[in-house]
Amino acid sequence: MAYKTDIQIAREANKLKIQEIGAKLGIPEDDLLPYGHDKAKVSQSFINGVQDRDNGKLILVTAINPTPAGEGKTTTTVGLGDGLNRIGKKAAICIREASLGPNFGMKGGAAGGGHAQIVPMEDMNLHFTGDFHAITSAHALLSAMIDNHIYWGNELDIDQRRIVWRRVVDMNDRALRQVNVSLGGVSNGFPREDGFDITVASEVMAILCLSNDLSDLQKRLGDMIVAYRRDRTPVFARDLKADGAMTVLLKDAMQPNLVQTLENNPAFVHGGPFANIAHGCNSVIATKTALKLADYVVTEAGFGADLGAEKFMNIKCRKAGLAPAVVVCVATVRAMKMNGGVAKADLGTENVEAVRQGCPNLGRHIENLKSFGVPVVVAINHFLTDTDAEVQAIKDFVASMGAEAILSRHWELGSEGSEALATRVAEIADADTANFAPIYPDDMPLADKIQTICQKIYRADAATMDDKILKQLRDWEEQGYGDLPVCMAKTQYSFSTDPTQRGAPTGHRVPVREVRLSAGAGFVVAVCGEIMTMPGLPRHPSAETIKLNADGQIEGLF
Ligand code: ADP
Ligand code: MG
Repeated sequence: MAYKTDIQIAREANKLKIQEIGAKLGIPEDDLLPYGHDKAKVSQSFINGVQDRDNGKLILVTAINPTPAGEGKTTTTVGLGDGLNRIGKKAAICIREASLGPNFGMKGGAAGGGHAQIVPMEDMNLHFTGDFHAITSAHALLSAMIDNHIYWGNELDIDQRRIVWRRVVDMNDRALRQVNVSLGGVSNGFPREDGFDITVASEVMAILCLSNDLSDLQKRLGDMIVAYRRDRTPVFARDLKADGAMTVLLKDAMQPNLVQTLENNPAFVHGGPFANIAHGCNSVIATKTALKLADYVVTEAGFGADLGAEKFMNIKCRKAGLAPAVVVCVATVRAMKMNGGVAKADLGTENVEAVRQGCPNLGRHIENLKSFGVPVVVAINHFLTDTDAEVQAIKDFVASMGAEAILSRHWELGSEGSEALATRVAEIADADTANFAPIYPDDMPLADKIQTICQKIYRADAATMDDKILKQLRDWEEQGYGDLPVCMAKTQYSFSTDPTQRGAPTGHRVPVREVRLSAGAGFVVAVCGEIMTMPGLPRHPSAETIKLNADGQIEGLF
């Protein structure tokens, strides 16, 4: 049987007008700011007006350590949201927006897959409602104001060798990783080294996603550190008086975007911070708004649970006062096999033993997630190549861990395939057994927070930090940043810092190479291993085959 591609399925969707989707959540037409017929922003005044309502139940979708292809977290998030609606629950979905850069490198979108997708998927993967362009512009404004300030006399005494604010563009462009700026003579300023990151790595993106409202946004933008003086004192964005104008540029981008699933259920798609130097979750404002409008909100955290769920809990939930009612950990037969040592090319053949060998990876994630005080369900995201024996091996293992695994066929069948998962997840959420707490307190020293994550989540013997890093952390504590959570930047493929060590490694150490302060976003980044803030394109980027066909449709993107 030939299966349709994601884009074919998406194009056949019977979309409702966005006003009808808004009506399902009780959003009046006047409070939807339409971007075409199938996308809208929800007005800030409406959001302000629902604040005293009760919250629905928050459901986090996370996953085991993935294969390079992704494990279907977004697909499962969408499938579960549709499944909950199918069994008569009022449910909404919250996911991230897509970055432009990766789209032109490798084929594949960020709107889910198969019969569990968000539409319009082409828009969502491309310019959407312009949020990322606004973020790029706000970021660029601050970049321009820094060099302009220096040009006109540098009253703030910025040390030009210690400017930490890099530039951004929403494209994969390795040529821009390190550049020289202000070349060409006196009228162009003072030459210095600079560099570009991709827009999703901008601190502005992390701030937009963690801010409660526009005044919180402006305060955080002002708190960003852009440079240091020769005496090492920080220069803030507010010292350059950039925060007001940046907020103006971001005023519309702050309002969450409403779209729909293939099954016409509401989905908020808003914000998209990197999951390494940032926390990798959709915006707080979208999640909180959805919780006011729906009884169940299904959301996703990027990467595997060791990174994504850990940051969701310790950063997003802690800072926003959120608490998940239940966590769904996505596992796939092929990722279990990969964690069990099978090469990518051999994932298609049945190998029950390799599935069993990979299960300890899942087991550790289950234990870790439970340590946050939340109940865990494993969703086996079914692939057509999975055999019954392989699926059973996962179920047996999960049962031996005192948890349950449910096979879900949403990719193939839509909500019909996720009904069982949705039913069980709703039961667990309704039982209110969660007793959520982050795994370290605010007032723990920063170095100990890093140790706690490395030992309790990665099960490392220790994190290793040299004296310079320890001193930096102590300095930040003295400057008043000691209460911040830490944001780990590490490979997503392993509990360790070695991407080839799959499964459930022990006895490893986690070398912290560098620490960075995101003073506006409100976290300290611990960089462990290679960290990429400006990706490159592959030898043959998918951009080479992307085009419009005679009907004006996009080809080659998905
Ligand atoms: P993640 O959110 O974990 O990165 P996605 O949900 O975006 O993963 O899925 C990654 C890719 O895998 C997508 O192209 C999607 O269509 C595909 N995919 C997901 N689930 C399945 C499945 N059950 N069968 C086949 N392909 C799938
Ligand atoms: Mg995803």
